[in-house]
Amino acid sequence: MSTQAKPSNPLKAVRGTRDLLPPETALWNRVESVARNVFSRYGFGEIRTPIFEDTQLFARGVGEETDIVSKEMYTWSDGERFDKEALLDWWVRNHPLKPIGYGREDAPFDLSLDPPDGPRQLVAFASHLTSQMMASYAAINAPTFPRREDLDEYLDKGDSTDLGEVLDRGRYVKAIKRLVIASPVPAKPEEWVDDGFVIEYVFGNFNKSSQSLTLRPENTAGVVRAYIEHKLDARGDLQKLFYIGPQFRRERPQRGRYRQFWQIGVEVLGPVSSGSESPLRDAEVLEMLATLLDELGVRGWRLELNSVGSSDDRKRYNVALCEALAPVKDRLCEDNQRRAETNPLRVLDSKEPNDQDIINALPKIADFLDADSTAHFQAVLAALDACGVPYTVNPRLVRGLDYYTRTTFEFTVPDGSGLGTQNALLGGGRYDGLSEMLGGPKAPGIGFAIGEDRLILTLQAQAEANKPGAPHLDSEMWVPKLDAYIAPMGVERNPAALALARELRRAGLSVEVGDGTFRLKKSFEAADKSARHIVILGEDELASNTATVKTFATGEQVRVERSELAKLLRSESTPD
Ligand code: AMP
Repeated sequence: MSTQAKPSNPLKAVRGTRDLLPPETALWNRVESVARNVFSRYGFGEIRTPIFEDTQLFARGVGEETDIVSKEMYTWSDGERFDKEALLDWWVRNHPLKPIGYGREDAPFDLSLDPPDGPRQLVAFASHLTSQMMASYAAINAPTFPRREDLDEYLDKGDSTDLGEVLDRGRYVKAIKRLVIASPVPAKPEEWVDDGFVIEYVFGNFNKSSQSLTLRPENTAGVVRAYIEHKLDARGDLQKLFYIGPQFRRERPQRGRYRQFWQIGVEVLGPVSSGSESPLRDAEVLEMLATLLDELGVRGWRLELNSVGSSDDRKRYNVALCEALAPVKDRLCEDNQRRAETNPLRVLDSKEPNDQDIINALPKIADFLDADSTAHFQAVLAALDACGVPYTVNPRLVRGLDYYTRTTFEFTVPDGSGLGTQNALLGGGRYDGLSEMLGGPKAPGIGFAIGEDRLILTLQAQAEANKPGAPHLDSEMWVPKLDAYIAPMGVERNPAALALARELRRAGLSVEVGDGTFRLKKSFEAADKSARHIVILGEDELASNTATVKTFATGEQVRVERSELAKLLRSESTPD
């Protein structure tokens, strides 16, 4: 049933979601275009995967014990629909009536019955009762009630196969004696007579769902699923993919944390022969991120990285961690006690101040890495050193998702960058076993996801803090002024103004058109706000094929030939 919002209580965007409006969207576009530009210089191509996927993908890929999968996903049963067969079977089992035949799939009844103490009946099964359905079933009492002889004729035959030969659906409807309606609301079954036929309510869940679907909480699993599905490994080379799009997590909303948020991400993966396991790939991805953040103008970013080793290293570490946690677990906060049970690595992520001493004393994963993992990590660090990318090794950085192996990293920004406690701008790492976890070929890979919302908040806060020192980050920058605002003098000049705008726009200029009803003062105010020039189009100008142009930067006003207009509007100031 639909509810009507009262005018005094207009509907709002759902908690944790928000609208992005101009001029802020110009900053989003700018960020995305810088990212696209950087990615293309590093040989990346764009991938767009669906916003929802089979729930299993995230359960298997991200891990059932992670916070994301265990409590933050938007999951629903898709294609849930009324299971008529189940209701029909249930009904027959629970009634001492003898069915003599089942109706056809598309017939408005489902069963013909031979009750011991009355005439034969047709029964229909439905999932709910709508007024429309009521009206059509109620036709049983309408003047067009089918001729009794028609009805009796086939009921008397008692041969269900004949039913299929009666093609007039209207006659079936009118023959129904009983309507059985399933309702999922638990209550006592009830039955009443309406318009001469019996309506029977049956409570129970007679729905079947075809598939469990989930709004993607992250994009790596979807990209790897696509890699497997499209057999990208058969191409033999390294796949360098990027994506930009919304992700969904049911988290407690706060500044920098939303339920729908955007990520800009990258995945590099391929068969081992493509070099996908090489530490060079890790270093290249990190160096690219440093370049991207620098080109965007993010200041003070910090790269923290660590190695969580191979899955074997992690298994050994997990055992040691569990042993070390056992005697101290009771002293941890409730959340960490739960993590110690379900996903001990996550305890290391905890920011709970009272638990820090205990956590710092826990074993370090670095002591459990085998020779290969250690050498891999050292090679990543050496390549970063060679490129001059600064970093800090953080032995506690393990990250929340199950699929990470070897290199894991985060970029954070300093306090006061607009993110509050949510100071992780982006995170990522290597996931050498993910493709196999999802049933695909061996395809080691590495990737990251930037929280675009947080990136924007950072850029805005840093620009704000530095005013007027960072003019290139001012919001004005993202919304450049239009080249011209055309002011028609009087409504008769409107068509000519639109025609002029068309001509100029086709010549590549950005143009706004006012309206002939505006007073000149209003046109000037609107033009000054949005454009570099105002073009006045009056009777004189049209008659002489000229235009009057004022350039706001200089205050100069000139009359020019129409043929010279585009050139003048393109120039930064009026020519001498
Ligand atoms: P993750 O996929 O959890 O590694 O997150 C990668 C990045 O996405 C984080 O560093 C954040 O910048 C961003 N992010 C994650 N969750 C949210 C959220 N609920 N709201 C806004 N940004 C988020």
